[in-house]
Amino acid sequence: MRYGIFSDLHANLQATEALIDACKKEALDTWVCVGDIVGYGANPKECIARVEALAAISVAGNHDWASVELYPTERFNPLASQAISWTSLQLDKEERDFLTRLEPVYKNADLTAVHGTLDAPEDFDYMLGDSVIRENLALLDTGICFVGHTHLPQIIMQDADGHIRIHPEAGVRLKEDSKYIVNVGSVGQPRDRDARACYCVYDTAKREVQIKRLDYDAQSARDSIIAAGLPVFLGDRLLRGI
Ligand code: ZN
Repeated sequence: MRYGIFSDLHANLQATEALIDACKKEALDTWVCVGDIVGYGANPKECIARVEALAAISVAGNHDWASVELYPTERFNPLASQAISWTSLQLDKEERDFLTRLEPVYKNADLTAVHGTLDAPEDFDYMLGDSVIRENLALLDTGICFVGHTHLPQIIMQDADGHIRIHPEAGVRLKEDSKYIVNVGSVGQPRDRDARACYCVYDTAKREVQIKRLDYDAQSARDSIIAAGLPVFLGDRLLRGI
């Protein structure tokens, strides 16, 4: 099975369409969306439609739930909160129902997917810090978990002796006796100072995970945000990957 796994589209249609085009060439079997289809960007309706059309397995992100009042915007910064208010006004009943139905965790024989952390998936905490990572690895019973939320791509591995380290490359061959947490980065708002869209391919036959980058028209995405009347910073940050 070849999975295309992506997260944090954030209503960036230009990045989402680039992702879909690229992944058509990847001979993928299944798509997994690790949350935050909406929020920040100018095209929430179109991005929901694209994810629905892919028939992707999708879990909830904090922005998805905040847009349908399932998560408090008090925990958002003012710009994010402003974008959530705008997003809520754009959505029709079907789109709201779609976001409302998203579950916080997905699991099958190959993988687990959660936007934030497994210990409290509905709190949307960040998979950051030694103790959080260790606790989540202990909870993991599928060998590999895909996360998003920080917008920072990263492969964390724990060997059979329990040692945890950050894998130094964008790709890894999975070992039978190790556990992995893979942050798939962000399609629509990367924050690792690389403005390109980010996604991940997981090949279960080859036991390989590869984080990939993709050029897209970030200038057009920025212009859409500003034309929609959303905060200028939310557009400008796309050009710098911050
Ligand atoms: Zn996000």
